[in-house]
Amino acid sequence: MPTLWSQTLIPTLRQDPADAEVPSHRLMLRAGLIRQLGSGLYTYLPLGWRAMHKTIEIVREEMNAAGAAEVLMPALEPIELFADTKRDVEYGENLFRLTDRHGRHAALAPTHEEIITELMAAYVESYRQLPLNLYQIQTKYRDEFRPRFGVLRSREFIMKDAYSFDLTVEGLDTSYRAMYDAYCRIFDRCGLTYEIVEAESGPIGGSASHEFMVLCNTGEDTILKSDKGNYAANIDKCAIGPRKWTFDAPPTGDLEKVHTPDCASIEAVGKFMKVKPKHLLKTLIYSTDNGPVIAVVRGDHDVNEGKLKAACGFAVTLDDEACANRYPIGFVGPHLAAARDELNIVVDCDAAQDQFWASGANEIDHHVKHFNWKRDVLDHIDESRIKVADIRKAADGDPSPIGDGGVLREHRGIEVGHVFKLGTKYSDAMGFTVLDEDQKRRSVIMGCYGIGLGRIVAAAIEIGHDADGIIWPASIAPYSVHIVPIKYEGELCKTCLSLAEQLEAAGMDVLIDDRPERPGVKFNDADLIGCPIRLTIGEKGLAQNSVEFKRRADGKAKAELVKLDQVVRRCQEALDI
Ligand code: ATP
Ligand code: MG
Repeated sequence: MPTLWSQTLIPTLRQDPADAEVPSHRLMLRAGLIRQLGSGLYTYLPLGWRAMHKTIEIVREEMNAAGAAEVLMPALEPIELFADTKRDVEYGENLFRLTDRHGRHAALAPTHEEIITELMAAYVESYRQLPLNLYQIQTKYRDEFRPRFGVLRSREFIMKDAYSFDLTVEGLDTSYRAMYDAYCRIFDRCGLTYEIVEAESGPIGGSASHEFMVLCNTGEDTILKSDKGNYAANIDKCAIGPRKWTFDAPPTGDLEKVHTPDCASIEAVGKFMKVKPKHLLKTLIYSTDNGPVIAVVRGDHDVNEGKLKAACGFAVTLDDEACANRYPIGFVGPHLAAARDELNIVVDCDAAQDQFWASGANEIDHHVKHFNWKRDVLDHIDESRIKVADIRKAADGDPSPIGDGGVLREHRGIEVGHVFKLGTKYSDAMGFTVLDEDQKRRSVIMGCYGIGLGRIVAAAIEIGHDADGIIWPASIAPYSVHIVPIKYEGELCKTCLSLAEQLEAAGMDVLIDDRPERPGVKFNDADLIGCPIRLTIGEKGLAQNSVEFKRRADGKAKAELVKLDQVVRRCQEALDI
């Protein structure tokens, strides 16, 4: 049955909503796809839910085809489950917590690693039961610091999350590849153009991960991509190609102490001393299980904590308050290591160059000019205490790390999906082992794979719209064909219904605008909600046994007159079905 506009709820808005910053958010509100209930909380209205439904079906089909089995786990979970993996701490304030009437503590799941591990541990005892991959399509809860951009970053959202279980690392590689390939098919079928980037694994933990990013200027993530070859990575992870460095540069002058009162930032110090940030050393003290470490990058660069952790071989934490009673935080220079034996140094390559350097003077409110690595540090400490490494965030213009001779270029992206190799983080923490062929207990090796369903829909709009409204990819459009009668009465009405019946019999879904509105209003709404094909039915056309056919993607192009008996074929052709 076709849907009649009057029998559904499509509250289109004439005006742009005031607080919507990005096109998808604005258009989802204007086209009556969603309604905001509270901060980061949205109702999907009939049109929005139809688009979601189609998206969910594509995801479900591809997950099933990849050999994953669907389950549904509770969103509400006992907090004890999180204690073993310490994620109640790692997830921090993003975790929604609550207490039930009996005083039991619970959380609303931000993802389901603990719950699925508990489930699998209960039923899987032998390697013979592996490999397995289970997935669900479920609502997730995250108390995001800054919910924004509509369903792109909300506090309650629908995710497809899958979890793979293998005995061996090779098995994990195969499971991971199967999900990676399924993701490509899903995003292709949803009509998205995307980039697959190397990524950090964040609070989910694990050893390798890729994000699927839809490139667009409004994306919240920063991606760096080689202009040659095929390296792309999230800025949080992106490596930088080889850079030359030296500690043997001759001094540029005598060490000169400068009084720099009230200069809290690199910018303030630079201005005060008349030194550019790229001639300043940014020096931060991190705590590690192996003692404190001074991380040094150029003043105009930022430390990448993931890289620093890899260089140190230990997890790193920056806690200026805790360090403040031991070190002159804000005024530390690398030569502090010469006076304090407990400090090791990790220097980014760009901070070990033959040039003029200014740095902290290791004394509150003071800096030094003419800092020299050899004279002020290397001549006083054992070489084993200092290391040069890639520890800064990559930036546009940096050399590509894969030896393709390329330069990294910056792009913005929306993360629609994420695949992780988790390893044994969860199985170890929760004691999930199986007996192998030799009857030995082994930790199960896991992977996890997430897709944001709402983000797919919003990202499709982000890359598919014009000034008049949405331009849907046919596969996830709320309806394939939108019939707009000039008046919904008599012969026109009959034609609408008979065409709709034929189109639906041929596998298309149809919306008929039966409202007693002016044609102009209906056309504007048709452009706004953006179904791939609009058929306009008027007396003039019908006199020639024809209707006006228009593809939404053709924008302002003139409609084409199509004979009634050709309409179905023409629509099929345009939708490529
Ligand atoms: P982000 O970095 O954007 O906060 P994430 O890396 O924390 O996301 P994952 O834990 O990888 O997210 O979750 C899997 C998928 O769920 C993401 O790829 C994204 O598509 C979706 N997702 C995550 N957070 C949100 C949110 N707040 N609103 C809507 N979708 C989300
Ligand atoms: Mg992610």
